[in-house]
Amino acid sequence: MKMPAVALRGMVILPGMIAHFDVSREKSIKAVEACMMEEQKIFLVTQRDVEQEEPALEDLYKIGIIAEVKQVIKLQNHIVRILVEGKERAEINTFLDHPEYLLAEIVRFDETVDDGLTEEVKTAMLRGVQETFERYGAVNPRMGKEMLRQVKETADLEKLMDMLANNLPFRYEEKQKMLEAVSLTERYEVLMALLLKEIEITAIKNEFQVKVKQRVDKNQKEYLLREQMKVIREELGEDNTESDADSYLEDLKKLEADKEIKEKIKKEISRFKNISASSSESAVSRGYIETLLELPWDKASRDNRDIKNAEKILNEDHYGLEKVKERMLEFLAVRNLTKKGQSPIICLVGPPGTGKTSIARSVARALDKKYVRISLGGVRDEAEIRGHRKTYVGAMPGRIVNGLRSAGVKNPLMLLDEIDKMSSDYRGDTASALLEVLDSEQNSKFRDHYVEVPVDLSEVFFIATANSLQDIPRPLLDRMEVIEVTSYTENEKAHIAKEHLLAKQMEKNGLKSGQLSVSDKALAKIIRGYTREAGVRNLERKLGEIARKAARDIYENDKKKVKVTEQNVEKYLGKEKYSFDLKNDTDEIGIVRGLAWTSVGGDTLEIEVNIMPGKGEIQLTGQLGDVMKESAQAGLSYIRSVSNEYQISKKFFQENDIHIHIPEGAVPKDGPSAGITMATAMLSAITGTPVRADVAMTGEITLRGRVLPIGGLKEKTLAAKNAGIKTVCVPKKNEKDIDEISEEIKKGLEIVFVENLSQVLEVAFAK
Ligand code: ADP
Repeated sequence: MKMPAVALRGMVILPGMIAHFDVSREKSIKAVEACMMEEQKIFLVTQRDVEQEEPALEDLYKIGIIAEVKQVIKLQNHIVRILVEGKERAEINTFLDHPEYLLAEIVRFDETVDDGLTEEVKTAMLRGVQETFERYGAVNPRMGKEMLRQVKETADLEKLMDMLANNLPFRYEEKQKMLEAVSLTERYEVLMALLLKEIEITAIKNEFQVKVKQRVDKNQKEYLLREQMKVIREELGEDNTESDADSYLEDLKKLEADKEIKEKIKKEISRFKNISASSSESAVSRGYIETLLELPWDKASRDNRDIKNAEKILNEDHYGLEKVKERMLEFLAVRNLTKKGQSPIICLVGPPGTGKTSIARSVARALDKKYVRISLGGVRDEAEIRGHRKTYVGAMPGRIVNGLRSAGVKNPLMLLDEIDKMSSDYRGDTASALLEVLDSEQNSKFRDHYVEVPVDLSEVFFIATANSLQDIPRPLLDRMEVIEVTSYTENEKAHIAKEHLLAKQMEKNGLKSGQLSVSDKALAKIIRGYTREAGVRNLERKLGEIARKAARDIYENDKKKVKVTEQNVEKYLGKEKYSFDLKNDTDEIGIVRGLAWTSVGGDTLEIEVNIMPGKGEIQLTGQLGDVMKESAQAGLSYIRSVSNEYQISKKFFQENDIHIHIPEGAVPKDGPSAGITMATAMLSAITGTPVRADVAMTGEITLRGRVLPIGGLKEKTLAAKNAGIKTVCVPKKNEKDIDEISEEIKKGLEIVFVENLSQVLEVAFAK
């Protein structure tokens, strides 16, 4: 069809949008006049370049809009203001020859192509848009309540998208994209991308605003203080710059460092001399010089190479932890033999409180190395590792260089704590910065943005700690040697408490040896009843509590000695907090004990299943996550597929509901490892076979009833043992982990390796 056309500059009209604009080009005014003679329809298309006066076909976007002209007002100076309403999308084919105005040959799009989307998909898309807009509104307080309400109430996807495109402050190029998106799906994608981008930008903008404000406040304060200082200095008639510069030069002479570095510092000192003492630049320069002078360029401490001594110290400080100790002694031996040798980068991985940090400190003591700890938990900004450029207000070196500075030598032991709790955002990739620190190829020339000259990290002995391997970025993990530290058994905890923690806490609280004793039974009660953890941190805290109270007792009541026994523990620590779930006394139908692995170690969990008349539905209650729900479904599917073998009638699943419940939800549990437990409980309930009360199990189940391996075998078997279980079923594939389990756990506990569910039932069903 043919229609008079107007080229728009810097704006796009979308369907449903009512807008007015001024027309001044002669051709355009003529086009408006022509359209008013006919149907009042006009084709509006945007030009790519706002500046173009006489746009040709290729200067315009292909897709424009057919609009209805609602009102025309003649203003002065040959300007016409028109009010239009956008109606439908159309594509321009060509311009026909017309002497007075642009006459376009256009093709309408029949209707919106809806891609054959089902109602569900459309509803999902609708909600997607609504939710994203809500987030947008949340970061954009200027977005009115009315708009939010309207968006929530609009139930038509297309209308909603048009409305948002019309009302949000998108640029005209972006609106053009919306116009060009002919199908619903395309339009959805464009709109969502725009919204998400806006959300991101606004969030970043808000964050910057806060930062800038803080910085300005700080600058102003500094400025005032400096001005005051200047006045004071003038009054007193002193100016430190000269004398400071001299003392820096003095320090520089004593500094052990490369020529290149000394040159750099020297240059900076002479620059410093020439800046006015009251300028802020002087403070920056001063900070820089001092930092560089304090860095241990070529200064190193002598390591103790006596292996026997190292072994003695390591054993003195820690009970167990054999693998870590062994690895350290090996390292020493190798280094003594080769006279050099790169320091290994060791990563200790294990639950909290298992002595990772403290063994690192002890290694430093054994090797006579300086020790610095750098906490990486929550570090998100690359600059925290690599430093800020010194032109930046308040710039500082990164944590690594700071650590080196506080160590004072170039070969300290540097503990990178909680390497798995580091994350990255738009402020840069923390992991890759750390990668440079740890890479032995690159770290002899580590570049800190603040320091500017390369710093040698190749002699630093790095030890990293982490709670879980999964959260460490892969490339980082490849650079490190992982040593796993597992949780402690009760017996080990008792040893640690007796040999280390108690003495430590007594000393801390001013008690002399002999003034406080804790009996073995009392200790066992504290471990069981007052703590539940993989490590010994809470245990140490509890012993500290006892030591404090004992100290008070001795001081106030003039006692010679305090004895803590099983009977009087409660006097010191109050009522017991935890109780272990013990095994049931009798075999029951539909009740099976599973084994779980949580952040505080292992635990047993009892799974109950009831069958009742119904429609074949499965219901799950208790504190359980999605993975667990899915694994219950998988178990049920398997049971249904083999119902013949267990003489379950065909109709059973149509006439009954199955309810699975996991009581004791204090710790939320998730993961697939309760699969065989739930399947066994279901089969027991369906077939009415009792399950042995002294059996516990763990393993993921597949649709075909195979049993897949699980993690945390040591912790789980330990929990089973504590609960008084006699037999545990464990996936066959976990057989290789059996070495982790100490004899103490294995004694009196039968471990059966299983490959499929029928083997589990063989063990679990009471005969
Ligand atoms: P992590 O770094 O693994 O979270 P910590 O090193 O902070 O744990 O250890 C917590 C406390 O427990 C420290 O006081 C530590 O000395 C003590 N500790 C842990 N394991 C042992 C052990 N095997 N022998 C002696 N003390 C230990």
